[in-house]
Amino acid sequence: LLKEHLEKSGCSIGDKFIKAVHCDKHISGGYVRAEGIVVCSNHMNIQDEVNQVVIHELIHAYDDCRAANLDWYNCAHHACSEIRAGHLSGDCHYKRELLRGFVKIRGHEQVISFSLKKL
Ligand SMILES: [Zn+2]
Repeated sequence: LLKEHLEKSGCSIGDKFIKAVHCDKHISGGYVRAEGIVVCSNHMNIQDEVNQVVIHELIHAYDDCRAANLDWYNCAHHACSEIRAGHLSGDCHYKRELLRGFVKIRGHEQVISFSLKKL
């Protein structure tokens, strides 16, 4: 669905847009404008983690395609895309939070908005 909407928005992605790589940093993956998405294969344990990273990064790619003048060095712009990617990808779904050991169900997504207010 995300790939389809990227194409409809004029940002079609080729076969090499998403790459599995070895990462030295402790990250799951990332999106870089004009380069694509990397998934840190050495930090993935199950298919669901790979799916989650790809969905999250595709939302960043979509935001980059759709939002005029998106500046990744502007903290507010970047934070906006992180909230969208976190929320829309299901990263913050309560079942995932429980699997990560976060057991506070009520208001769990508010933690993100609270920390962003300090930016
Ligand atoms: Zn992100």
